[in-house]
Amino acid sequence: MNFTELGLDTRLLEGIDAMGYETATPVQEQVIQPILEGKDIIASAQTGTGKTAAFLLPVVNKIITEPHDAHLINAVIIVPTRELAVQIAQTMEGLSYFTDVSCIAVYGGGDGTSFTTEKKALSSGVDMVVCTPGRMIAHLNMGYVKMQAVKYLILDEADRMLDMGFHDDIMKIISFLPKKRQNLLFSATMPMKMREMARKILHQPLEINIAVSKPPEQIVQEAFIVYEPQKIPLVKHILSSKDFQSVIVFCSKKMNVKQLSSELKRARFSIEEIHSDLEQDKREQVLLDFRNKKLKILVATDILSRGIDIEDIDLVINYDVPNDGEDYIHRIGRTARAASEGTAYTFVSEKEQQKFAQIEELLGHAVTKAQVPQQFGETPAYNPRKPRSSGGGGGRHPGGGGGRHQGGGGKQGPQRSGPKRH
Ligand code: AMP
Repeated sequence: MNFTELGLDTRLLEGIDAMGYETATPVQEQVIQPILEGKDIIASAQTGTGKTAAFLLPVVNKIITEPHDAHLINAVIIVPTRELAVQIAQTMEGLSYFTDVSCIAVYGGGDGTSFTTEKKALSSGVDMVVCTPGRMIAHLNMGYVKMQAVKYLILDEADRMLDMGFHDDIMKIISFLPKKRQNLLFSATMPMKMREMARKILHQPLEINIAVSKPPEQIVQEAFIVYEPQKIPLVKHILSSKDFQSVIVFCSKKMNVKQLSSELKRARFSIEEIHSDLEQDKREQVLLDFRNKKLKILVATDILSRGIDIEDIDLVINYDVPNDGEDYIHRIGRTARAASEGTAYTFVSEKEQQKFAQIEELLGHAVTKAQVPQQFGETPAYNPRKPRSSGGGGGRHPGGGGGRHQGGGGKQGPQRSGPKRH
């Protein structure tokens, strides 16, 4: 669905455009309209589904189009972590760029200067506040925060907040708010204690359940934990290890597509590249050759990850970690179509580990870490920082290290069976 169909103000449509969003995600399609109509919402939607814009857009839309007091706080967004607070404030900055709505992130851990800045904004009446519970209570206890005009309360990652023991803090913040307000609650899961809290806060909420797309079960997914310079040799090794008939290697950047394909061409693999710099005619020709199996390997950007129906792809390699879980699912969904089996390998460099942990979180399970063949030397340990929400990340991955120092506990990767050129 197009954002113009959702009835948003043109100033927000400009912000959406500047953020590069083209169509609304499923959660945005489902919640924006009811929020604009003033309904309370309880939505189960995970990180990576576009839920932040799903609540920011309609709330900002209402603030700029309905009468409101510009000197008082209009909306309060309570979140579990400072990282999430900062991220939401950044998304807000982008989406509301062409409006005059102001927003501040209020979170613990900073120095005295940030507390003073927050105090100033809170007492002079910023429009929207994104806060972690403890820090907000510290400000509320000082008495200068004017909550009497708050019309919108948003709880994001509510299950995580309950897990972190914030129930009482949340209820305390709510005790400062007017009774008449619109409440929006987003949570990845809906445990009983979550529903109990929702019952106390929400008023006849509309319940929305965003089913997260899952990759087909017959796809064998493995990740190689490597250093960035090990990626090109590893692609060559994998492509030489078996007589693959149809392979797509996805890269997030055109530059990587170009570099990798020139290396593979030099090594005499049957490969072509596909990305937006290519003339339409050439693109179509390459795709036709790939479909007809004249060409065995395609190196592509994400322009190929969605909606292109090519059958019998036996291997997808994610040369780098896709930007979000949906892209990952779309990329690996190119293989194992129509009940056939397929394999998806993802190369994860040190700086991509956190991003990959978030994808594992969205998948709801850890991806098996493959053993990088001995001749590649030492590899990094898999040790991502704990992702924002609880779930599959952190140190719970089977064969988690992937690296040699793990004593070879990981799953065996592709083995060289003599170089075979395609
Ligand atoms: P969230 O689930 O809110 O953390 O969003 C996940 C990612 O999707 C963020 O990087 C957003 O900027 C991005 N995003 C949100 N909505 C859209 C959209 N309609 N089109 C493209 N990207 C989006």
